[in-house]
Amino acid sequence: MATQVLDSAAIEQLRGSVKGEVLTAGGAGYEEARTVFNGMIDTRPATIVRCKDPHDVIAVVELARVRACEVSIRSGGHGVTGSQLTDEGIVVDLTAMKRITVDPEARTARVQAGVTWGELDAATQEHGLAVTGGRVPSTGIAGLTLGAGSGWIERKFGFTCDSLIEADVVTADGRFVRANETENSDLLWALKGGGGNFGVVTQFTYRLHPVGPMVYGGMLVFPPFAARELAQTYREFMRSAPDEVGGGFAFVTAPPEEFVPEQARGKPAVGIIATYSGDPEEGERVFGPFKDMGPAVDLTGPMPYVAVQALLEHGNPPGNRHYWKADLLDELTDEAIDKLADAHMRMPSPLTVMLLQPLGGAVSRVPADATALGRREAGWAYHVISQWVDPADDERNIEWTRSVSQSLEPYASGGVYITYTSDTGEARVRDAFRDHYDRLVAIKDRYDPGNMFHLGQNIRPSIEAAARAQSGS
Ligand SMILES: Cc1cc2nc3c(=O)[nH]c(=O)nc-3n(C[C@H](O)[C@H](O)[C@H](O)COP(=O)(O)OP(=O)(O)OC[C@H]3O[C@@H](n4cnc5c(N)ncnc54)[C@H](O)[C@@H]3O)c2cc1C
Repeated sequence: MATQVLDSAAIEQLRGSVKGEVLTAGGAGYEEARTVFNGMIDTRPATIVRCKDPHDVIAVVELARVRACEVSIRSGGHGVTGSQLTDEGIVVDLTAMKRITVDPEARTARVQAGVTWGELDAATQEHGLAVTGGRVPSTGIAGLTLGAGSGWIERKFGFTCDSLIEADVVTADGRFVRANETENSDLLWALKGGGGNFGVVTQFTYRLHPVGPMVYGGMLVFPPFAARELAQTYREFMRSAPDEVGGGFAFVTAPPEEFVPEQARGKPAVGIIATYSGDPEEGERVFGPFKDMGPAVDLTGPMPYVAVQALLEHGNPPGNRHYWKADLLDELTDEAIDKLADAHMRMPSPLTVMLLQPLGGAVSRVPADATALGRREAGWAYHVISQWVDPADDERNIEWTRSVSQSLEPYASGGVYITYTSDTGEARVRDAFRDHYDRLVAIKDRYDPGNMFHLGQNIRPSIEAAARAQSGS
């Protein structure tokens, strides 16, 4: 798509019409504002507008439309593909929009798009409430919710998008619209998993659920030779586990920390991430069989829900280089476990994690047509989260990550959530939405027929799709 760069007169005009900062290359704050979580992203936008309120967002969208500038939307900045920035265009930066309003009686929270999960969890936990949220506190609520939103309590309360009851959206024509069950309900449906395709969401309203403040959680670490048998045992355990059980099975490298026995540090290890969103004593009992197996390290115990939400924070600092692959698995077969265990022994970076995430519970009970997501019935997701530090290691890590996902292809059932993978492109997007894809295109036609919001995992409006088909591109 051809994009125009704003000239200095247009930038001055913008400065005069918005309350937030307008940042350009070389100016104060620009470098920090173009920095995102994935250190591989080195995009230099022409203009970044740090919006203060929906009026600012409207002003930017209007200007971008009139001037034919490419637009990107940045909230928490954790999207792994780098879609939150655009090289020449204009970034709608929502990081300054931080208001959170919790109504403990109604059990709802209205949350502006610049809020992170650490901030929202802290606010809702003051009332013993929560909505399924990201597993690393610095992650933005916005991109995560729009991409489904998977978290430790999803088997009890569903994905984040399942608790989304209203959204305020600035659409491509500069209108401010509210989407809920009665107004623009098609838009609300599309936002439940359909990504950043339909407009700039300035505020999300969630239904909250009683959680904590104390729950049970932590990690049990075992030596790698136990991987296959332990993963099989974990699979059998999950078949009848109560909905309160969350967590996953992780292939990791034991960190050089004091709590790890010296001989295990820096070596492959496997971990059961244990979370229980009900009574902590019951959680301890439920995970008892794994504790009795004699883990090398047992970091589980009663802890605040906000601590469970921060379990992975240390291993996910901003600025590392990231490349991800993921998919759903209807069944977790012995063969798939073998492939992961083999890949574990060849893992090029000690920072990388391969996670087997159990689904089911509330996730699979939400009706298939309630949200844009293409599949709900899969029992498991696998997620290869490759991260490393040195750019010289890019090729090695990317190749390895691709090889793991190729080896798992025969066992994968497709339909993974769009935020879990570095893959882009139409085939991936169609696969994510399956039977819902055409309905999403119709909603795209209604709210963004010119495809202004096309960065990231794009659902193309039908005019553009037809033109591309005709030109063969
Ligand atoms: C360390 C880490 C941990 C993660 N953990 C989880 C997890 O536990 N569960 C899970 O489901 N996912 C997880 N993710 C993936 C996460 O859901 C995505 O990276 C998501 O995009 C993050 O949201 P963000 O607001 O930070 O996105 P950004 O990077 O700001 O934006 C990414 C894209 O989302 C869209 N978008 C963002 N904000 C808006 C908005 N306000 N309006 C419209 N579109 C918007 C745009 O298309 C944008 O390009 C994790 C990612 C990281 C890096």
